[in-house]
Amino acid sequence: MSAIPQLSPEALRQLAAELRVSYARFQSQGLNLDITRGKPCTEQLDLANGMLAGCENEYVCDGVDGRNYGGVDGLPAMKAFFADFLEAPSAQVIVGGNSSLALMHDTVLRLLLKGVSADAPAWKNQGPVKFLCPVPGYDRHFAICETFDIEMITVPMGPDGPDMDEVERLAAADPAVKGIWCIPKYSNPTGITYSDEIVDRLAAMPTAADDFRIFWDNAYAVHHLTDTPDRLKNILSACENAGHPDRVYVFGSTSKVTFAGAGLGAMAASEANIAWLTKLISIQTIGPDKMSQIRHLLFLKDMAAVDAHMKKHAAIIKPKFDVVLSMLRDGLGATGCAAWNEPRGGYFVSVDTLPGCAARTGALAAQAGVKLTPAGATFPYGKDPEDRNIRIAPTLPSLAVIKTAMELFILCVKIASVETLLDEKIV
Ligand code: PLP
Repeated sequence: MSAIPQLSPEALRQLAAELRVSYARFQSQGLNLDITRGKPCTEQLDLANGMLAGCENEYVCDGVDGRNYGGVDGLPAMKAFFADFLEAPSAQVIVGGNSSLALMHDTVLRLLLKGVSADAPAWKNQGPVKFLCPVPGYDRHFAICETFDIEMITVPMGPDGPDMDEVERLAAADPAVKGIWCIPKYSNPTGITYSDEIVDRLAAMPTAADDFRIFWDNAYAVHHLTDTPDRLKNILSACENAGHPDRVYVFGSTSKVTFAGAGLGAMAASEANIAWLTKLISIQTIGPDKMSQIRHLLFLKDMAAVDAHMKKHAAIIKPKFDVVLSMLRDGLGATGCAAWNEPRGGYFVSVDTLPGCAARTGALAAQAGVKLTPAGATFPYGKDPEDRNIRIAPTLPSLAVIKTAMELFILCVKIASVETLLDEKIV
C-alpha cells in the first residue's frame, strides 16, 4: 500500500469505506479498556511483597528507632542508599516521604515563597516566574507550574534532549526564567536519554537569573528495558565543574521499584541547597516515615540488588512494549501517518500522528471503548499546538488488553488521517 497521504481522493474514499466497517466491528464489541496512565501492573507490584514480610521486629536502624520522630533528612543508611541511587555524596541527599513528585512540588513552592537560599529574594517577589518546559513532557510537572501561576515556555525535545540553542537563548535573555523541567533518562514520554553534551550545556549556560534552577527528575534512572542500559552524565558534578554548584536539584524515587505510592522519594543537591531545604522541610514535618525506609533498606539493600530487582520488572513489561512496537510497525509503519520512539527504558511510547489528528484519534478510540491519555496532556496547559502527540502507557494493562487496544488505536489513527486528508468525517 502507498503511504496514506499519497493516495488519490478515490483511493482515500475506498479506504474510508473499509475503515468504517472495521470501526463498526469494534464498536459492536462493547469494549471498556484503559491505557492511560503509567502505573506498574499487579505482577510488578507483587515483586516487592517480600518487603512486607517479617518486619515486625525491624524498627531500629543504626541505633535510630524508626518508630519515633526525627531524622528529617532520612536515616543515615537510607541516605547512603540514595547517594548511590542519585549519584551524589550522602551528605547531599534528603530522603523524603513517599513521592518524588511531592518533593518537586514542595521545592517549587518553597522557592516561590522563600527563595533559593536564606539571603535570596523569594521568586514571587521578583515579578512573573517562568519555567522552560521541554515538550512533549510530563503533565504533572506542567500542572505544578499551572497551579502556581508559573508561565510555561515550551522548548522542543530532540533525540538527545531539549533544543539547547533555544534553552540557552531563553535562559540568558530573561531573568524571569527561573527553572527548567528535565526528565533526563528514558524521558516521559519520548524515552530518550540526555547526551553528555546536553548535560554539560545545561550545567554551563549563562542564565539571566542568578537563582535559576534545573529540576532534574530522574524518575526512570534504573528502569531499563535492555541489557545495555543508557548512561547519563552526572549533572551535579557537571554543575560543580562549570562553577554552578547550586544550579540543580536531582529527584528520584522507588515508586516503580517497590510500591507506587508506598515507596520512597529522595533528592540530591549542593550542600548549600540541602541545608536550606532541610531547614524549610523541618518546619513542615518532624520526620518522614522511617519505618518505610527500614523496610526498603532490608529489601533493596544496595544498587546491585536494585539492578537485579529491576531485571524482574523488565521481564514483565518488556513483552508489553514489544507488542506495542511490533503492532505499530505492522499497522502504521507503511502508512506515513505516524512516527514513534522505540524506548530502551522507562514507561512510555510516544506517538506523533499527522498534524491535527491526535485529539480525533483519542475521541474515536473513546467512542469505541478504549481510553487513551488525552491528546495534549504532554504539553503545558493541555494544548499540543500541532495536535499530534499521544502517549501510550503499556505497563499496567494485560497483553490481551494491549493487543485489542492497539488494534483499535491503529485503526483510529488511520481514520483520523483519512478524515484530515479528505477534510470530512468518515465515521
Ligand atoms: N516523574 C515522572 C517523570 C513520572 O513519570 C512520574 C510518574 O509517572 C513521577 C515523577 C512520579 O514519581 P513519584 O511516584 O516518585 O512521585
